Amino acid sequence: MSYERKSNSEIRTCVRCGKIFQYYGIGRCYCPSCKKQDDEAFKKVKAYIYENGTATVMEVSEKTGVPVRFIRLYLKDNRIEIPEDSPIFIQCERCGVNIRSGRLCPDCANALTNEMRLELDFNNDQIGEIPKKYTSGKMRFLDKNND
Ligand SMILES: [Zn+2]
Ligand SMILES: [Zn+2]
Repeated sequence: MSYERKSNSEIRTCVRCGKIFQYYGIGRCYCPSCKKQDDEAFKKVKAYIYENGTATVMEVSEKTGVPVRFIRLYLKDNRIEIPEDSPIFIQCERCGVNIRSGRLCPDCANALTNEMRLELDFNNDQIGEIPKKYTSGKMRFLDKNND
């Protein structure tokens, strides 16, 4: 590795284990050993979801041994996307609609001003697609006449 120069790095605390390490400003603030563990966990989760499609987050966590909160992080970072027919979803941070990955639904992302994007540290990679069968599903609980 040729990343020896200290000028581009800073001393940070690993968000996973709390260890002090040299951070080079790329990706989440994980120390090298957590980064490695995280990459391995991510591969397991991804493989499981793609093989089994309709697993819940709990099930994926149980079968892969990866904590639920990390699985949710992968979804938020848009590193994995929930299959179309899956019962697991994450929610738009602004309106709460179900999305398959990322942080905001397309509507809310469109409504953001550039300033808000900066403030939220939001970019287009974090726009999540709304699963088709749930596009109008959010109101169902409120509508007593439904059925
Ligand atoms: Zn660490
Ligand atoms: Zn939204």
